[in-house]
Amino acid sequence: MESQEKPRVAFFSFTCCEGCQLMVLSCEKELPEILKHIKIVNFREAMTEKSDDYDIAFVEGSISRRDEIRKIKKIRKQAKVVVALGACSSTGGLNCLKNRYQMEEVKEAVYGKKAAAHYKLIDTIPARPIDDVVEVDYYLHGCPISKKEFLSFLTALLMGKNPDIVNHPVCVDCKMAGNICVFEKGGHCLGPVSRGGCDAICVTYGTWCWGCRGPVDNPNIDSHRETLERYGLTAEAVISRFALYGQCRQGKKC
Ligand code: SF4
Ligand code: SF4
Ligand code: SF4
Repeated sequence: MESQEKPRVAFFSFTCCEGCQLMVLSCEKELPEILKHIKIVNFREAMTEKSDDYDIAFVEGSISRRDEIRKIKKIRKQAKVVVALGACSSTGGLNCLKNRYQMEEVKEAVYGKKAAAHYKLIDTIPARPIDDVVEVDYYLHGCPISKKEFLSFLTALLMGKNPDIVNHPVCVDCKMAGNICVFEKGGHCLGPVSRGGCDAICVTYGTWCWGCRGPVDNPNIDSHRETLERYGLTAEAVISRFALYGQCRQGKKC
């Protein structure tokens, strides 16, 4: 940022669990230093004061109601920089599982048949990432985001540098972590085509990669397909099993 004044930063939350904002708040050790360089003016999870005058907006959560469309457009109009914070905001995330169903079915599942007479009052639309509605300048991936990545991103932004967003597959992180590949153990994994930067934490802690950080920019699908075939798996079977985070982009247009 060129201004001599501290950049004014706001955090906003749409449809989500607010776990990514919690990751920001978990930077307790670094926050005092961060606050020397920015002024946080809006952060509902952390403070009661609010201002609509900000330069950088971190936006967490998917768009899943009409009023959220109006709100995100207003944020875009105000902010010089809009950052999608986490999977819900960047790709639609888990919320897009809802898009497999008709919205009436979703209302029934959540509110029950007894509330049917009031369904029309419930504002719900297929979930989508924020860039379906407004232009996004940067993406911080993950469910939740990586604290390390958030801090290095913010540092680069404040220094006027182009933030370096990881674009290597999770397998690179996984090898660095010294893990045994889950394919070797008869399991499935989306690591070869998913964006790294998470230190392959899920594999390290005994599961596999679900692809929460979305795909790398140019995933080597053919090579992944060959790997799957080598282990007796089909791409289709794996994709359906790992549709947790890819629903919006793979499914019908929201
Ligand atoms: S990306 Fe995951 S952790 Fe972050 S808000 Fe969405 S559901 Fe929560
Ligand atoms: S476990 Fe997954 S992320 Fe790790 S090397 Fe194997 S395929 Fe890649
Ligand atoms: S290993 Fe995969 S699912 Fe786990 S945090 Fe990394 S990208 Fe997300």
